[in-house]
Amino acid sequence: MSCLNVTTLAGALDALAADPGALVLAGGTDLLVEINMGHRRPTSVLSVTRVPELRSWAHDPSNATVRLGAAVTYAEVMEHPLAGLLPALAQAARTVGSPQIRNTATVGGNVGTSSPAGDGLPVLAALEAVVHLASATGVREVPFAEFATAPKRTVRRPDELITAITVPVLTGWQGYSKVGVRNAMVIATASTCLAVDEAAGNVRLALGSVGPVIIRASAAEAFARASVDFAERRATADTVREFAALAAAAARPIDDHRSTAAYRRHAIGVLAGRLLRRAFPNG
Ligand SMILES: Cc1cc2nc3c(=O)[nH]c(=O)nc-3n(C[C@H](O)[C@H](O)[C@H](O)COP(=O)(O)OP(=O)(O)OC[C@H]3O[C@@H](n4cnc5c(N)ncnc54)[C@H](O)[C@@H]3O)c2cc1C
Repeated sequence: MSCLNVTTLAGALDALAADPGALVLAGGTDLLVEINMGHRRPTSVLSVTRVPELRSWAHDPSNATVRLGAAVTYAEVMEHPLAGLLPALAQAARTVGSPQIRNTATVGGNVGTSSPAGDGLPVLAALEAVVHLASATGVREVPFAEFATAPKRTVRRPDELITAITVPVLTGWQGYSKVGVRNAMVIATASTCLAVDEAAGNVRLALGSVGPVIIRASAAEAFARASVDFAERRATADTVREFAALAAAAARPIDDHRSTAAYRRHAIGVLAGRLLRRAFPNG
């Protein structure tokens, strides 16, 4: 297996065009595990972590977005000022693996793998992020909701690089919560991100680890929109209960080695109810 290190975006795109069988390597915390376990046998890998455009991020206050280069690490997402702009993503980042993993694992790698258990992904779904793809023949933008099609399957073509993820900066409370078999170094059994969009008067709720892709709980969102008091940050106990039940009903969990479907569904209800209560603490 050959390994090519590129230092420019053009170099990366040319290399992928010349060898679409090459696998993109960012932090390697997913890909190297797959290669070590023999699940993937690439003839070449293309290391992209030295490409400056992928390593940086920028805040654009004029359209209230942050453009995260694909190779920005979860450790960087946890740092201010980025953590202040995208608090739920920072919260999710704090739950990813260990400090060693967070220092090398990238947001683009999480999106590239698109496991339904990826911790950053419910946040990107709730915030309605956009994935930027580039190849030697052009660029395209894919709404996050359309990027993953099945567990670890995406619309990315082999010759395309994820260059960035654009994430809207919302005003309003937002948070991420996850359940696993222990408190650290754990893949989510169930996860939720709730984001309040004050400007639009919306509550967004995304569910992880309970379906083939990240799920938006649209019935729960519509119910919250109609039932909470945004100005007073008020939600009644009945509203929280009903919201939790609607969130649980939106889950499509399975039994697997990490959990039962029934536990996952229950956990989603608990997490969603807690997040709504944090967002609207006045009962
Ligand atoms: C011990 C351990 C603990 C972990 N804990 C967690 C956890 O708690 N939560 C969690 O969500 N994940 C966890 N992971 C999984 C992993 O760390 C994350 O998914 C991480 O974000 C992957 O990023 P990476 O940069 O290492 O990706 P890589 O392994 O380099 O790549 C992952 C996939 O994305 C593709 N890819 C990467 N970058 C690009 C790009 N720019 N363009 C196109 N394709 C690209 C690769 O080809 C590959 O298919 C853990 C992994 C390990 C080994």
